[in-house]
Amino acid sequence: MLSTVLKYLEEKHVCPHCKQELTLCNAPPIHVGDGLGWGSEYLFICLNNECSLFVNGWKHIENQYGHVGSYRYMEIPGSNENYNMMVAGKDAFTGSVVDIEAMKQQNKRYQEEKKAEALLPTCLEEKNLEPVLFLLLDEAANIEIRKKAAAMLVPLNDLECVEPLRNHSFRDTSLEQEVNLAVSAILTKHYMKECPYCAELIKARAKVCKHCSKDLD
Ligand SMILES: [Zn+2]
Ligand SMILES: [Zn+2]
Repeated sequence: MLSTVLKYLEEKHVCPHCKQELTLCNAPPIHVGDGLGWGSEYLFICLNNECSLFVNGWKHIENQYGHVGSYRYMEIPGSNENYNMMVAGKDAFTGSVVDIEAMKQQNKRYQEEKKAEALLPTCLEEKNLEPVLFLLLDEAANIEIRKKAAAMLVPLNDLECVEPLRNHSFRDTSLEQEVNLAVSAILTKHYMKECPYCAELIKARAKVCKHCSKDLD
């Protein structure tokens, strides 16, 4: 779906009435004219309020149908199919404009997630904690993939993971639990523990924290 939108963003559609570029919008669920679907989730629409079709449409609709309304010019993405769509007012589609920047951001994040996922199978032999951490710290990433990443923590046995994971708040409690168990296991393997007062890593045998000097007994 996201890739569909991004493909559409590369299309340029121009209004034949006002020569302005059309805006990509989410399609309304129903074809206003005949009750059929558009066959597309998105439509390119001329939202120019100075557009001659829109300006002259009011009079035409009043004469023709006797009610208040006008037309917006629109084209179906990926085609030259076009319609003059009846609208009741000038704000008819302003709420459904596709947020292009948000889409691009979302896509960038998604590409990074895919990259990290692709590195997971080799992260052990390459001792590469990076993709594992990336996925675990990305709340928008696929939860199944994040759980696969969590399963890599103990085999990787890298103390570097402790701080970033401890500082992250997980929305998924079962993932959080897995991560906490993994962190405990890694600390144990390194004969380390976290000071309950300052959270610094210290030797498991320490009786006094070397960082905050608190008595640990
Ligand atoms: Zn126009
Ligand atoms: Zn301490």
